[in-house]
Amino acid sequence: MAKPKPILPASKHPKDFVIATIGSHSALQILKGARDEGMRNLVICKKGTERPYKAYGVADEIITIPDYKDWNSALEEELIKRNAIVIPHGSFIAYMGHDRVRTMQAMYYGTKEILEWESNRDMERQWLERANILLPRVFAKPEDIDKPVIVKFHGAGGGFGYFVAKSPEQFYEVKNKKYPDENDFVIQEYIVGVPIYIHYFYSPLTKELEIMSMDKRYESNADSIGRIKAEDQLAANIHTSYTIVGNIPIVIRESLLPELFEMGDRVVKVSKQLCGKGLFGPFCLEAIVTRKLQIFVFEISARIVAGTNPFIEGSPYTALKYDVPMSTGRRIARDIKQAIEAGRLEEILG
Ligand code: ATP
Repeated sequence: MAKPKPILPASKHPKDFVIATIGSHSALQILKGARDEGMRNLVICKKGTERPYKAYGVADEIITIPDYKDWNSALEEELIKRNAIVIPHGSFIAYMGHDRVRTMQAMYYGTKEILEWESNRDMERQWLERANILLPRVFAKPEDIDKPVIVKFHGAGGGFGYFVAKSPEQFYEVKNKKYPDENDFVIQEYIVGVPIYIHYFYSPLTKELEIMSMDKRYESNADSIGRIKAEDQLAANIHTSYTIVGNIPIVIRESLLPELFEMGDRVVKVSKQLCGKGLFGPFCLEAIVTRKLQIFVFEISARIVAGTNPFIEGSPYTALKYDVPMSTGRRIARDIKQAIEAGRLEEILG
């Protein structure tokens, strides 16, 4: 089904609009950001998940549905009636699925087409290669493994089941024993370094790229294995998994900032050649920095990431630029507000 064109309200008053999202991931920040920019907000919660949005008092309206699969045209009618602009986040995309996002009738902040470019590993790689981003090498077949690799299964939420191997024999040993029926995977060079997630924002209105903040993830049990000695790790037969439990703020050494800005510029520039309006709003480059200070990017997220959540009161970087606490959620609301006031709403909707 083709992507529908939302009917845009003519109003230039931000108060005539509502910022809406699903109650999970980074919703608290998105709702608070809307409030801080003087806009109304709305959160759609699966029954039983409303408590944080009530407890922190950040939601103007909570709509409860039995399950996210019950997101239907009646709900969309409600959103359209309220002039709601929907903000996608990681859980939103995961719960809704790409097809439903694409055919959504309500106003949507961002470029829908870019979701395919970020979620399809081949397309994602093509995009980043064209942007001249340093990427981990990919091995076409297990027989080619000649150095440590990380094996990633497709759709493995939170890196579950990923494993490390250093030879074809080791690959087959783990694969055949633990994942005999899984055949959708990628074999990627294992980059030894520290992970860092860089949170960008690109406004189509100001045409400016901003670095909002950075984080590293707190992952179980990758971040817990090192707490016991190596022989106990072996004895306990613990396997590394990367389930995200939380996020930890980071600042990067300042001399790397120019390169990070240039990487973001190139990614945005190429995205405009790939699809329609290209990438705009929040996005994240997920990188590993080596001891030689090479920055390898292993993934891009073309929307707000939960790693921005420690920065509801702003980050060291946004503190430099803004005279108010500027979270990514608030920056989204500001983009929307400015677009409405300038009669440029169409430019920020996908
Ligand atoms: P998604 O964000 O699509 O859900 P994921 O979180 O499941 O992906 P990744 O983000 O790709 O999985 O990676 C999970 C973990 O594996 C991260 O901690 C990351 O640092 C590590 N990792 C990923 N790729 C590499 C690599 N090439 N070399 C070393 N470590 C890697």
